[in-house]
Amino acid sequence: MSTEQRVALITGGSRGIGRAIAYRLAASGIKVAVNYVAREDAAREVVDQITRDGGSAFALQADVTNPDDVEALIKGVEDRWGPVDILVNNAGTIKDSLLIRMDLDDFDDVVSLNLRATFLCTRLALRKMVRNRWGRVINIGSVVGIAGNVGQANYSASKAAVIGFTKSVAKEVGTRNITVNCVAPGYITTDIVEGLPADLKERILERVHMRRFGNAREVADLVGFLAADEASYITGQVIAIDGGLSLGG
Ligand code: NDP
Repeated sequence: MSTEQRVALITGGSRGIGRAIAYRLAASGIKVAVNYVAREDAAREVVDQITRDGGSAFALQADVTNPDDVEALIKGVEDRWGPVDILVNNAGTIKDSLLIRMDLDDFDDVVSLNLRATFLCTRLALRKMVRNRWGRVINIGSVVGIAGNVGQANYSASKAAVIGFTKSVAKEVGTRNITVNCVAPGYITTDIVEGLPADLKERILERVHMRRFGNAREVADLVGFLAADEASYITGQVIAIDGGLSLGG
């Protein structure tokens, strides 16, 4: 199958890292379904930009924590373009606080989007990938899922679980020519990181050996590579993209 015929679904493709991934995949000729939950305007902007640049995209509303929505989402892509060949589980959220003050809802909401939705989307999309003997699943994790982080017990637990999920599914579908990998970004310049107090940013940057935050485009380039034929023998891997943060020291 040529790249132009491939179909990608990006959960949370309307903003931040997901948006950059949508642009990157579309630029390499892949048809891109841009999922969003609330910000229709943002999703439409992404689709319009891709279309202006000569690519193919459309937007699909779905709350990926809801199994019925996920079913409708995958069906929506299939009805329009055929099966999902490349699934990027990107939608994610944080609800930070120290564990002793963490509400059960803040734990459940984070796990529901970061982990459970990844399970729901992957389980459904994989069926056709298995039949087609080709597929790519790329899960957006976080270096916090490897190292942990103060105030993020829920988030780091969910992202650590995504790593276990990635490795298990990679083992299950390897013989079907499907790769499953986890991209683990460090601090990437998005709304959240931009909004941090200046002194906190300074302290974070002391631990990032490249002394700068990453940008969404850099993460998108890694995802673009993993989605391409060139990455056909890479599976079950967790690839940190963090300017050296996870090296410690
Ligand atoms: P943003 O908060 O900028 O964007 C979140 C996206 O997810 C939006 O498109 C939003 O849609 C969508 N979304 C939220 N909830 C749902 C839902 N229930 N169903 C479907 N879509 C939903 O996120 P980031 O770009 O910062 O993060 C993207 C991923 O990267 C996440 O998994 C995050 O954990 C991970 N990451 C981010 C880092 C960073 O520094 N930013 C660092 C490490 C990992 P809508 O526009 O409709 O609200």
